[in-house]
Amino acid sequence: MIAGAGQAGARAAEALRSRGFKGAITMIGDEPHPPYERPQLSKAMLHSPDTPVAYIKQPRDWNEALGVRLKTGAAAVDCDTDRRIVSTADGRSFPFDRLLLATGTRPRRLAALEGASLDVQYLRNVEDAFQFRRHIAARSRIVIVGGGVIGLEAACAAAKSGCHVTVIESEARLLARAFPTLISDLVADRHRSHGVAFVFSATVTGSTSHSVQLSNGTEIVADLVLVGIGVTPSSELAARLGLPTVDGIAVDVCGRTAVSDVFCAGDAALQWSRCHGRAVRVETWANAQNQAIAVAANMIGEINAYNDPPWFWTDQYDLNIQVVGDMRDADHIARGDPASAKFSIIAMRGTEVVGALAVNAAKDMAMLRRIIAANAKPLRAYLESPSYDLRAALKAQ
Ligand SMILES: Cc1cc2nc3c(=O)[nH]c(=O)nc-3n(C[C@H](O)[C@H](O)[C@H](O)COP(=O)(O)OP(=O)(O)OC[C@H]3O[C@@H](n4cnc5c(N)ncnc54)[C@H](O)[C@@H]3O)c2cc1C
Repeated sequence: MIAGAGQAGARAAEALRSRGFKGAITMIGDEPHPPYERPQLSKAMLHSPDTPVAYIKQPRDWNEALGVRLKTGAAAVDCDTDRRIVSTADGRSFPFDRLLLATGTRPRRLAALEGASLDVQYLRNVEDAFQFRRHIAARSRIVIVGGGVIGLEAACAAAKSGCHVTVIESEARLLARAFPTLISDLVADRHRSHGVAFVFSATVTGSTSHSVQLSNGTEIVADLVLVGIGVTPSSELAARLGLPTVDGIAVDVCGRTAVSDVFCAGDAALQWSRCHGRAVRVETWANAQNQAIAVAANMIGEINAYNDPPWFWTDQYDLNIQVVGDMRDADHIARGDPASAKFSIIAMRGTEVVGALAVNAAKDMAMLRRIIAANAKPLRAYLESPSYDLRAALKAQ
């Protein structure tokens, strides 16, 4: 049984079959759609209206090709581990032997805009992307709350289409959660050159039917407010199982929760990260795919420790930025010239490479991901040399 029909649930179902599992698989999802990938909701689908939804499989293939009983539009609301039954909001019950929680996350709500008469939206699902696209087409005046990856990708699409865009960020810079200041500045400059305005160190305190009011006393006229202030894990089902759910559902390296035969994968899972030195939730496409595949194998008796370093990317204008591991509280070593908009930064703590980011430098990133995954320990002096071939770090392993 898989609760949650997003990317992690879907990849787990596929992996169960590809590894020879012949038993029944039921996947329950509360969205009206079969599983799809989300990255293009803030990218291609906003830039080109013809971009189709990235379904992982066509609806009929779940049943016909994979033999997965897919229940869409059904929220799993309760779970009885003694009777081994998951119940849905519409009163149906589904039996299970093993349960995968793949319930993901949902957008954190902005209390100051609850009940606003102004158009307010979030960007998590297909309907959200369609709604935002309509505003882009109408050349709306858009306020984006939150200068994180999703808000900025949406800002990029809207600005390129001629919308008037203002981003409100509570921190003093963009992308403060995962990126160094150098990248914040680079990204802000790119947006400004496309007409995006920023208000830093301010929050939204209220709204009228045509504007938002900010903590710094200013008011900004808007047709739409897009809120992108992070996500919270959907862990109600886990809570019904008695699992602790502080910032996610804690799992071991095999994706096992503290309840026997109950596993968790994807955005909702709180898992150990060597790079961070603590348990984190990894809200990335790669994790939703690869951790889910590893956990699915563990559900059918394999022992697969999953410890890939977290990796994600963002595309904004001509910038492809990729990050692996953790860049914070580390020494940064630059490779290439940051002024050229093609460079990498490697993060080291002591002798360990714990993170890296690459701007328009996908080849560097491919090697750096491998170096960090292998916990290779190239000498800092080598990494500081502009001519050092990163492949050597792996050969030295
Ligand atoms: C707009 C956007 C852009 C992104 N871009 C990138 C990117 O560029 N790069 C990157 O690495 N990552 C990106 N991500 C993140 C990536 O898409 C997520 O990490 C991934 O979708 C997580 O998959 P998941 O299956 O764990 O969770 P989800 O995709 O959230 O799927 C969980 C599903 O379970 C459903 N569900 C929840 N509770 C229940 C319940 N009780 N019963 C039934 N169903 C339930 C949810 O509605 C949802 O459909 C992006 C995300 C968004 C929203």
